[in-house]
Amino acid sequence: MTSEPSVADQRSRTLGVLRLSLTARCNLSCPYCCPDAEDPPGLLSLEQQLRLIRVACRLGVHTLRLTGGEPLLSDRLLPLLQQIHNGRETLGDPLNRLREVALTSNGVLLTSDRATALRASGLDRITVSLDAVDPEVAARMAGLRGGVPAGERLLQQVFAGLQAATSAGFDPAAGGLKLNAVIQRTVNDDQLIPLADLARRWGLELRLIEFMDVGNRNGWRPQQVLPAAEMVKRIGARWPLQPLGRPVSGTARSWRYADGGGCLGVIASISEPFCSDCNRLRVTADGRAFTCLFAAEGTDLTPVLDVESELERTMAALWHRRSDRYSEERHGNADSNQHAEMAYLGG
Ligand code: SAM
Ligand code: SF4
Repeated sequence: MTSEPSVADQRSRTLGVLRLSLTARCNLSCPYCCPDAEDPPGLLSLEQQLRLIRVACRLGVHTLRLTGGEPLLSDRLLPLLQQIHNGRETLGDPLNRLREVALTSNGVLLTSDRATALRASGLDRITVSLDAVDPEVAARMAGLRGGVPAGERLLQQVFAGLQAATSAGFDPAAGGLKLNAVIQRTVNDDQLIPLADLARRWGLELRLIEFMDVGNRNGWRPQQVLPAAEMVKRIGARWPLQPLGRPVSGTARSWRYADGGGCLGVIASISEPFCSDCNRLRVTADGRAFTCLFAAEGTDLTPVLDVESELERTMAALWHRRSDRYSEERHGNADSNQHAEMAYLGG
């Protein structure tokens, strides 16, 4: 693996992570996310996705996260992973610089065959999102209308997905499989202990995410945010926790269970913003690049996507002029900003 200096932005932040959305569509409809029913026209081709990832690697990207919408809905996922895998194995290919390829999924379509194929295609990690253990709350958080039976079905599918991923070699103990949960005050904060209990039993790191003001459809209000410190306090009262801190450019602050029950992460982008060392570039399924999750508008890469040198110049310039730190400035503009939707951006 070769290492070369990354391109730096106006706040000396270097590019390190690419989050590429494969689709804006989803098979769930979580009310805090509100995905689109249709994909935008002009989804990137496999060739364009690969060119984009290669250029990003040349500019310093070492970690690729494939997301959506629900990425398992995309028929491009496996061919893309296979091509990335080949590139990672080839000396001199910029893809060889990728240290990690990860996927974020709601786990519903994570069958045993799918998990095995993902592993065989070189995927390193999967993060599965699940916001409740109680069936009624799980259904509500996923936007399913069928109440308890729908929630029970969802839980069954996600648990089967977790089992399938583990059997396919995504090892929770090595960080190969993690659980994400968005927590909203009075909506699913009663699920904190059950989710932590579930994760501890499965040996999974649970990552609790503060409800974020991404998009314009989810009716976000500051009162619905349960601050990460409060989440840690509640879980720590049940199972004492020891702080591990937040790695540079990481999104999660980590804690270790004092009884040896594994680790817990909290993503506190509202109460403790981490803009100062953010190294993430997001590209939507139709080729718009966003340097911030909370940005209103992205940069359309499609005019340059087919010419590698122009794409590289455009992406380098985009990162170089970046100065955003929305989350740190939130309190000044919370009401005035329009944001791109989460399922379009990919989280
Ligand atoms: N469908 C996949 C999933 O749910 O994991 C991938 C896409 S989803 C947009 C990526 C992550 O963003 C999920 O963990 C989801 O819970 C989180 N997310 C979506 N909307 C959010 C919001 N308003 N605040 C905080 N996290 C959110
Ligand atoms: Fe779908 Fe993920 Fe958004 Fe839920 S959070 S609606 S699973 S994209």
